[in-house]
Amino acid sequence: HQRVTLQLRHVVAEPIKLLRATIPAMIDFDVSLDSDLPVVQADPTQIHQVVMNLCTNAAHAMHGRPGRLGVKLEKFLMDPRQTEVVAANLKPGLYVRLIVSDTGCGMERSTLERIFEPFFTTKGPGEGTGLGLSVVHGIMQSHEGAVTVHSEPGEGTSFHLYFPADGTAA
Ligand code: ADP
Ligand code: MG
Repeated sequence: HQRVTLQLRHVVAEPIKLLRATIPAMIDFDVSLDSDLPVVQADPTQIHQVVMNLCTNAAHAMHGRPGRLGVKLEKFLMDPRQTEVVAANLKPGLYVRLIVSDTGCGMERSTLERIFEPFFTTKGPGEGTGLGLSVVHGIMQSHEGAVTVHSEPGEGTSFHLYFPADGTAA
């Protein structure tokens, strides 16, 4: 896999375009990609995959009901005291953060503990392979970044993906 210096905004916009065509109209697909972000080192194909996997899961978590699916790209200064530093084992410094959030079913703790395991799924046969999030996790590792998740049953879920800004971290 080939990592190059790029603006994540340009790469994230591509799968978003595809998703706009397929996500049901009752889902409010709220995309906000900041334009003043530092560049990162990333593999466009893998970023494409990450966005597709997370948004597909988010849309599925709505269970056919209306809801909001948010995608946000923003600059994030990791402070040494931040709990995310500990949770994700990240160094303090400048990151580009991709947030994918949904108002879907959320997850129980027992599910949350296993979501990054390959082949772990709560979906029926033919509905899910259980590989989506393990792939996301692996991709973030190889980008020297991290993924954290926050979820409340009945409330929703958000995934936070951290990409070290070029030349500042990792
Ligand atoms: P799959 O989608 O094939 O089941 P994933 O690795 O993508 O595999 O996800 C694993 C499991 O994590 C899902 O089966 C589901 O239980 C849970 N999950 C993932 N994303 C979400 C989400 N946005 N909301 C609720 N549950 C989720
Ligand atoms: Mg999936």
